[in-house]
Amino acid sequence: VDRPLPAPLDYLPPAGHVGAIAAGSRVQVPFGRQQLIGMVVGHAATSSLAADKLKPITSLLDTEPLLDAGLIELLDRAADYYHHPLAELIDAALPRRLREGAPVEALEEYLQLTAAGVAAVAAGEPRRAQRQRAVLTALHAAGGDLPVTELAAQGAGWRAAATQLARHGWLQSHWRTLAPVANPETAAGSVPLAPPPSPAQALAIEAIDAAHGRFDCFVLQGLPGSGKTEVYLRCAAAALARGGAVLVLVPEIGLTPQLVGRFRDRLAVPIAVLHSGLSDAERLTAWREARSGRARIVIGTRSAVFAPVQNMQLLIVDEEHDSSFKQQEGGCPYSARDLAVWRAQQQNAPVVLGSATPSLETLHNADLEKYRLLQLPRREDQAPPPTLALIDLRTQAMRAGLSGAVLQGIERHLGTDGQVLVYLNRRGYAPTFLCTSCGWIAPCGQCDARLTVHQNAGQLRCHYCGHEQALPACCPRCGFAVKPVGQGTERVAETLRELFPQHPLVRLDRDVARSGADVDAVFQAVLSGAARILVGTQMLTKGHHFPGVTLVVVLNADQGLFSTDFRAAERLAQTIVQVAGRAGRAARPGEVLIQTDYPDHPLLQQLLAGGYAAFAASALAEREAASWPPFSKLALLRASSRAPHAALDFLQAARTAAGAPDAVRILGPVAATMARRAGRYHAQLLLESTGRGALHRLLDQWRPLLGELPGARNVRFGLDVDPLDTQ
Ligand SMILES: [Zn+2]
Ligand SMILES: [Zn+2]
Repeated sequence: VDRPLPAPLDYLPPAGHVGAIAAGSRVQVPFGRQQLIGMVVGHAATSSLAADKLKPITSLLDTEPLLDAGLIELLDRAADYYHHPLAELIDAALPRRLREGAPVEALEEYLQLTAAGVAAVAAGEPRRAQRQRAVLTALHAAGGDLPVTELAAQGAGWRAAATQLARHGWLQSHWRTLAPVANPETAAGSVPLAPPPSPAQALAIEAIDAAHGRFDCFVLQGLPGSGKTEVYLRCAAAALARGGAVLVLVPEIGLTPQLVGRFRDRLAVPIAVLHSGLSDAERLTAWREARSGRARIVIGTRSAVFAPVQNMQLLIVDEEHDSSFKQQEGGCPYSARDLAVWRAQQQNAPVVLGSATPSLETLHNADLEKYRLLQLPRREDQAPPPTLALIDLRTQAMRAGLSGAVLQGIERHLGTDGQVLVYLNRRGYAPTFLCTSCGWIAPCGQCDARLTVHQNAGQLRCHYCGHEQALPACCPRCGFAVKPVGQGTERVAETLRELFPQHPLVRLDRDVARSGADVDAVFQAVLSGAARILVGTQMLTKGHHFPGVTLVVVLNADQGLFSTDFRAAERLAQTIVQVAGRAGRAARPGEVLIQTDYPDHPLLQQLLAGGYAAFAASALAEREAASWPPFSKLALLRASSRAPHAALDFLQAARTAAGAPDAVRILGPVAATMARRAGRYHAQLLLESTGRGALHRLLDQWRPLLGELPGARNVRFGLDVDPLDTQ
């Protein structure tokens, strides 16, 4: 069906079927005039449908369930918690090809010599058809049986030859599942070229390993370069040695070939990798490798939390604070990190949440001793912490957004063989295109947003709806000159190239990544030292440590200081610590310069004085005082409409329908911070409660009513439980 069904439908077993069909099996069912593929999610003794309305299942697609009972239970629990249809979760869990009916196991075609074929080879047949004889000989040499993929090496025409041979009755074809790779047991426990663990690493490894066979949640906190991956690798090796498998979740951008390479180099077992960049066929292959038990390590982004890993004995969530673990566009807005904890509970396995800057939710769970905090201080052979300094923009001469102090710093570091990383959370050339005469600012026609100047592409682009148009040569209102105002990564890169022409510069942001450039090659240019200056957005803050970088510049810290979003400060602190942590090595500590108009801001002062721990402690105290998460639970009902008021009206009706619930505060409805996006008006209603129970009791009753409210048909709406973005 186009959109997931709100609830499972009832069907009778196929005619003549004996016994129950296992939950998790796919079936073909009549739906209106169509035949569709569905999944059995449970059995009922009775149905709300009249007996004569119940239709039988047409056919059963799987001989054993596609998803095991544990995964069905996890999906069911998630559907319940997020108040979303189970079908949406199943959709997220299954590769598209499986939803379309592809077989669970990959089958491969084999050709096999018949007895007549063996006799024919012995008699030197066929005498004239050379190609046919080559195929026969190859089969005979291989013991009479070969997968067709290997026969393809005979060159074009092998298939025609095989068809002729089959006609003679000399061979036959049959389909078989791929032969599993023998378990490389020797490799699982061995750890080649491993640096000896530091005492802190050893303690962490020991604690995690001691939890094998039971649920326990560990928070592994350590700055970039402190050796979290080494802990993952050793714990994974131990789980493999016990015959188990390991699931590793990483943020979307953090899934680099290097990370997978480290696992491959150290743990010589088959690894399946699942991420959004795969083709449908690749995704199916990776899923099958996990399900067949062939892949002992599965590394993937968000939806890999549903990967059918067999005998999972360890789960790892790297960079657990990363917002890409929360599904935010379309589908059920689940948190893969939170589901990973549930899955570990269900599997009786330990789970490790790793980060230099754990989310406040996770730190709070550690405070409550629900999670165990393991800290990795800097190793002695690693760089001492970088020195952080605030650059007061009110006292500085500026050049294209770069202060005098920053430019001097860059010059100093480049002059002494350092590399420089410049971080700016804004891609494009400039955020504003302004008429210097009448004050016209290029707007997006579809959003309450300004268009961003993309000078290289000669375009104005909207970063919200994707609208693009050519850069106008003059003001469309008064005809006067127009100019870009403010800085994006493209402009900062241009300025730095002009100022430091002898130092190669690379830029990394979503525009660069989308242009088809090899992102990994950009990282390699920095790691090899070929590039001396790196300019980029938060893509830089993930997954990579750059030991050659000695100076990190944070250009625009102030965006996060005064946001109405209560999580903005947390994100800013995480970004500064993460980006600062990319710099420095033992012989040469890093230096971090943060440009700000507000050097006295308490957040910046805390970070400077006490690091992330000090920031987190005071941010948690603030959240507690204001009763924000993790000291309360939130759910956000979002709605959007083409007509300006329809979304707000619908949310008002939703608020009324909620009545005056016990222990739940309802805030709004209000227009979203950016109300108009892509021609639709967005608004939201926030539900807040200090008790998860009270909130979910309300949601249970209230969610089913929403579709029946007046105006529900004129709006798109969605419920987000534990929203990350509340603007
Ligand atoms: Zn003008
Ligand atoms: Zn737009």
